Amino acid sequence: LIGRHGVLTDLGFTYKDLKFSQDSFHIFAGLCAVDTYENAEAIFKALKENGVCCARMGAYKPRTSPYDFQGLGKECLPWLFDLAGKYGIKVIVMEVLSPHHIDEIREALDLTGHPCGVILQIGTRNAQNFELLKAVGRQLDFPVLYKRGYGLSLEESLNAAEYIASEGNTNIIFCLRGVRTHLGDPHRNLVDFSHVPVVKRLTRLPVCIDPSHPIGSRVKAPDGIRDIYHITAQGVIAGANAILVEFHPCPEKALCDGPQALPLEELPLYLEYVYKVRETY
Ligand code: PEP
Ligand code: MN
Repeated sequence: LIGRHGVLTDLGFTYKDLKFSQDSFHIFAGLCAVDTYENAEAIFKALKENGVCCARMGAYKPRTSPYDFQGLGKECLPWLFDLAGKYGIKVIVMEVLSPHHIDEIREALDLTGHPCGVILQIGTRNAQNFELLKAVGRQLDFPVLYKRGYGLSLEESLNAAEYIASEGNTNIIFCLRGVRTHLGDPHRNLVDFSHVPVVKRLTRLPVCIDPSHPIGSRVKAPDGIRDIYHITAQGVIAGANAILVEFHPCPEKALCDGPQALPLEELPLYLEYVYKVRETY
């Protein structure tokens, strides 16, 4: 269904008037974890000022330690979606960890005419949570951004995406976010953006890159460019259809993934870099 067996129909889809396909390009920038109203508003405002109408926002966070901030959950959803509407944000990518999170999002959005939509993210830790995959596949209200499993072969992750499609929902974006190896790594994960053209060849899905999680920090190369920028360029040149990237108005205070968050004031610079790379290659 995702196009792997010689089915050549374009599986692109339209959501909230935006086209997502192997020819489109979108940027989902924003908070790893929603922490305060003010920070969410600052992000949406900056996106609007820079002509971006998509965002990423985490309300439910899959944390490695049970003692770490777990996300604000459903309590932040009503004001978050209202804020998004206020700033003309059409689509928010938001991770769900359980089928009941989908119901909470649906309720908070009150689908009757809310200007903001949601793309449900399946995070790398749930990459083979087949019941969750089937649950997001059974509902047709929201598209799905599926993140490759960090310890899975590409084949296994493509099969997982097929689980979503097999239940009826083929509005899927496939996201590369780095993989773990046994070799040790100066970054958080090994960058796998060379697989962008592979996934585009093997499926008809739009392919997203997440440059934040494989790098894991704001470190700069000797040329003064952050590693996150360098690998963004790799992914864009390889043909990525979307970028999922973490920003925070005050990264030192972020409750989740602070070390890799780009300072919000850098948004114009990052966008300029991305557009320049796209123009050049
Ligand atoms: C995230 O997007 O914040 C996240 C937890 O991503 P991943 O599942 O790729 O680690
Ligand atoms: Mn994160």
